[in-house]
Amino acid sequence: MNNRIYYQGHLTRKRFGQHFLHDILIIDAIVAAICPEPGQAIVEIGPGLGALTKPVAQHIDSMTVIELDRDLIARLDQHPSLHTKLNILQQDVMKVDFGALATKLGRQLRVFGNLPYNISTQLIFRLFSYTYAIFDMHFMLQKEVVKRMIAGPNSKAYGRLSVIAQYYCNIIPVLEVPPIAFCPVPKVYSTLVRLVPYDKLPFPIRDVRKLSLLTSLAFNQRRKTLRNSLGKLFSTQQLEEQGIDTTMRAENVSVEHYYRLANLLAARHC
Ligand code: SAM
Repeated sequence: MNNRIYYQGHLTRKRFGQHFLHDILIIDAIVAAICPEPGQAIVEIGPGLGALTKPVAQHIDSMTVIELDRDLIARLDQHPSLHTKLNILQQDVMKVDFGALATKLGRQLRVFGNLPYNISTQLIFRLFSYTYAIFDMHFMLQKEVVKRMIAGPNSKAYGRLSVIAQYYCNIIPVLEVPPIAFCPVPKVYSTLVRLVPYDKLPFPIRDVRKLSLLTSLAFNQRRKTLRNSLGKLFSTQQLEEQGIDTTMRAENVSVEHYYRLANLLAARHC
């Protein structure tokens, strides 16, 4: 069966998570949410055929775009109203040094994108390590991913992403977007989310790698009690001293308790 899908003359590539936005009202709402202004260091991840790039570029003199697909880069590069405004990085976004980019541009970045869903969660975890260089982020994500980001304890959606995202950022869901707003039409609903890294972390952790380790251990064994899943790191007494009932499971522990445990772990290893 021939299931090739062309959009505006471009053969869409599944492996690059290509779902192009074409609903003009939704595009306008996204650009209004981003509210780009001259002088800002605007960075788009995955500009594609420019559905968001063009209206954003109307507000500013220059912006950086990061795109992996050579065919799309060639089209952006030749676009009459865009090419003078774009600094195009033909690169895998997973390899971009956002810290160096902010230094080069001389200010904190405003990052946005209708992200390729196949790498979005991985990418977001990666971006958290650059929050010092980022002013804000606006991302189109699978609705489920945003649900997981904002979830609290005692829910199915609550997990490692919730604990880590809520550590770094204020998370604001902005707009729900139906599949028909994209071509090809994805199977899932999407949500535009605004992530604003905290200037001053509400609960600083000495070594965030400990939070990463601890949440991996806990949530990779969701069905186990904490006594079992975290038993290698903490004694039952240590957990209880933190006010944690060790018969609970990972999904019952508050984000603050995870942050406290990460600090306990860091204190022990320094
Ligand atoms: N912004 C366009 C739109 O809204 O119509 C396209 C969005 S599409 C969901 C994702 C875009 O990210 C595609 O242009 C794709 O080629 C690009 N992309 C996929 N993987 C990438 C990667 N690892 N690094 C940079 N860009 C990537």
